[in-house]
Amino acid sequence: MAALAVYVHWPFCVSKCPYCDFMSVVADPALYEDFEELLLKDLKNELKNFSNRSVSSIFFGGGTPSLMRAKSIENMLKALQNQCLLENNAEITLEANPGTFDHQKLLDFKNVGINRLSLGVQSFREKNLRFLGRIYDEKQSRRAAEIVSRVFTNFSMDFIYGYQCQTPEDLLQDLAQALDFGCRHLSCYQLTFEKNTPFFRQLAAGIIKKIDENHELECCKLINDFLPNKNIHRYEVSNYAVLGWESRHNLSYWKYQDYLGVGPGAHGRITHDGRKYEIVKISSPEKWAAALENGENTESIRKMLSFQEELEERVIMGLRLADGIDLKNLQKTIPEKNIRQTLTDQKIYFLKTQNLLEKTNEKIKLTYSGMLKMNSILEFLLD
Ligand code: SF4
Repeated sequence: MAALAVYVHWPFCVSKCPYCDFMSVVADPALYEDFEELLLKDLKNELKNFSNRSVSSIFFGGGTPSLMRAKSIENMLKALQNQCLLENNAEITLEANPGTFDHQKLLDFKNVGINRLSLGVQSFREKNLRFLGRIYDEKQSRRAAEIVSRVFTNFSMDFIYGYQCQTPEDLLQDLAQALDFGCRHLSCYQLTFEKNTPFFRQLAAGIIKKIDENHELECCKLINDFLPNKNIHRYEVSNYAVLGWESRHNLSYWKYQDYLGVGPGAHGRITHDGRKYEIVKISSPEKWAAALENGENTESIRKMLSFQEELEERVIMGLRLADGIDLKNLQKTIPEKNIRQTLTDQKIYFLKTQNLLEKTNEKIKLTYSGMLKMNSILEFLLD
């Protein structure tokens, strides 16, 4: 059976960014230690069912997992080593935000087994950091990147683009700065205005505006010209890496391989008897913690996906990849009837004539123009 990816969700942040709709809350740091114990308990409970599985990647995400103690990460990695077959070269990533670590803390993380760091820098420019409501300033963002580059060889940086006060030159300077730090993996996310966020309300009230389509296209073009020119290829709609430095953990989501979720709100997809199961943990940290303490079920959803649901998820995830969807692989698990009824010849033909999609006997993938319109294409295909 294929190796497993494990995701551990740390739900706390120092403050809440105005655009963020992730499962993250601000809590008293005095609660962190107890919470770390609960995460370890949840992980150990989950791993009981996977003693025969090898684990190829672990991702500590959040929230801001760089707020955790290195000791707790060490305890979780030990549990993984003891309870399942942790591969020798497993990719073990920790997300970190500037303003939440110093040089020693990163060394501690590295010493307990973290071998990849994902830095949520978002921008190196003061005015942009202020707009995004980040907790650190320009100087701290550079200092954080410098420390990361000194401690880790394998690290990634996240950037947000596509908002009014950010000029295309700002964006270009941010990317160039990341490369100056020796960064070989970058994630570039367009700002979106998600419901129930302060930015969504400010947008509705006319306090902030979306950028126009030309500005948006200019940013996309800039990223997709600049990075490939530096041998950093786009392997997923928002992710870029030097060949061989792609995120193995995230690839397992997009390739629809099995992954286990630990912690409040974490999602998992596990194959059992040839069928895929969706598993979602209770999202409220308090309710998740109470269930764990009382020995109750910490899952809010566990269900076998129908073939159609699985197909749709595979299409949504697979079309994000520059490599697209491996059709032979798809046919191994999804009945031909479902595939033909969803990815109909007419729809595929139409998208091909619009230069949005390419299809061979082996693959189906979006073109550069298709990537720009991914959401509408998915709606069209899965209608
Ligand atoms: S640091 Fe990340 S997870 Fe936390 S509020 Fe900001 S965007 Fe959300």
